[in-house]
Amino acid sequence: MSTHPEGAHGALRRAREWTVRSWPLWEMPRRLVAAVLVVEATALGLVVAVATRTPLPDGTQVLHTALLAGLGLLHTEAAIGVERIRRRATAGGSHANLSSVWTFAGALVLPPVCAAAVAVVVHLHVWARTGRPRVPLYRGAYSTATIVLACLAAAGVVALLGRGLSAAGLPGIVLALGVYTTINNGLVAGAVAMSAPQPDLARVLGDWDDNLLEVATLSLGALTAVAVLVNPWLVLLALPPLLVLHRAVLVKHLEEAASTDGKTGLLNAAAWHARAEQVLRRGGRRQGPGAVLVLDLDHFKTVNDTHGHLAGDRVLAAVAGALRGEVREQDLVGRFGGEEFVVMLGGAGPAEFEAVAERIRRRVADLRVEMPTPDGPLTVSGLTVSIGGALSPDEGADLRTLLQIADTALYAAKRGGRNAVRMGVPVPAPPPVVPLHPIGRPPDPT
Ligand code: GH3
Ligand code: MG
Ligand code: MG
Repeated sequence: MSTHPEGAHGALRRAREWTVRSWPLWEMPRRLVAAVLVVEATALGLVVAVATRTPLPDGTQVLHTALLAGLGLLHTEAAIGVERIRRRATAGGSHANLSSVWTFAGALVLPPVCAAAVAVVVHLHVWARTGRPRVPLYRGAYSTATIVLACLAAAGVVALLGRGLSAAGLPGIVLALGVYTTINNGLVAGAVAMSAPQPDLARVLGDWDDNLLEVATLSLGALTAVAVLVNPWLVLLALPPLLVLHRAVLVKHLEEAASTDGKTGLLNAAAWHARAEQVLRRGGRRQGPGAVLVLDLDHFKTVNDTHGHLAGDRVLAAVAGALRGEVREQDLVGRFGGEEFVVMLGGAGPAEFEAVAERIRRRVADLRVEMPTPDGPLTVSGLTVSIGGALSPDEGADLRTLLQIADTALYAAKRGGRNAVRMGVPVPAPPPVVPLHPIGRPPDPT
């Protein structure tokens, strides 16, 4: 008999999936559970209502439905390796869903109930195959319901503007695309906002690249819809560009993962250096002077020695969150290594830089990091940080020099008793070398 822990764990998880009372859904906040159930019930209710009011699909429509659903399954299988890596790299934080090619095409050319069927088949298949570890069923069901609602709405737009794609024309397709993406992203963003303790707008709305990807995917979906009507075999031509799109997206996500510090989500040292150099090169001239802060947690070894390394890691993540919370979106925050952090602040005066550093120091001192442990909940507090700063002069400075100045100031803060901010003084430029004798005239031998 196999006693492999992974196998046992998997069996346990599968058993949980089929036991309604142990679904992870019930561990969510009440209002989120209510919202999820309302969205799912609305999707189901609308599909039933539309199904009872519209005639049964004819043979061609059934064939087109099977074609789009079948290609959706094929696409998921063909891209499975790339997609699993991408989902791991983004830790589920990306809104992008390339299967919309098939569901949006269905919304444009199929009867609404058939479009909903394509959405259900394709999305549940994506849920079952690509999430490793698998995301809870309620999340798969919720995203399927949002796609079904988006499909019904887009199909409604096309029906309103005249049946068939040619009648709807470009404005109809563009409007349907807008409605589809607004409903889908709006519902997903709503759930993200409700489940995060402090919703972050960028995370809720998805980043610019994600939204651009969505538009690209839906545009390919519209072309696929046209192909279905002209000659269904042409639909196969949508697969190669779609698979290339997957790879392009993966490269971007891997780049992001490679520049992120795994424990804190901040920039890692190499990425921070590269970006800070870039800011100094081109931003310095535009934004005026900037500043670099180097931070080192005080007596952090004691946190590890008292509570263990796992607790230490949680504290590092909490400090990182506090740092991000005290600076602007465009300021660069990185983990230099160990319990050392670095921040590059842009465009303000010396007094403001010092005020930011002072705010960070106070925020760390007020931090209470709560975490569960096998012995019950633990709260780590009483942390302090020492901060050294360096101002970048108007005429610019190289990063190495700024870091050296900030580092020297940091050690001054440590020597001065810790839990303090010190701003470094720029090293005066060496005086120009004045030749002892006027150039061009040889020294007088006498
Ligand atoms: P000081 O006030 O002089 O900075 O004292 P300190 O204890 O903070 O500094 P020291 O350099 O003696 O120790 C740094 C500690 O940071 C030791 C190391 O175990 C811990 N540390 C470094 N990286 C990590 C990490 O990734 N996770 C955890 N939990 N601890 C780390
Ligand atoms: Mg240190
Ligand atoms: Mg330290």
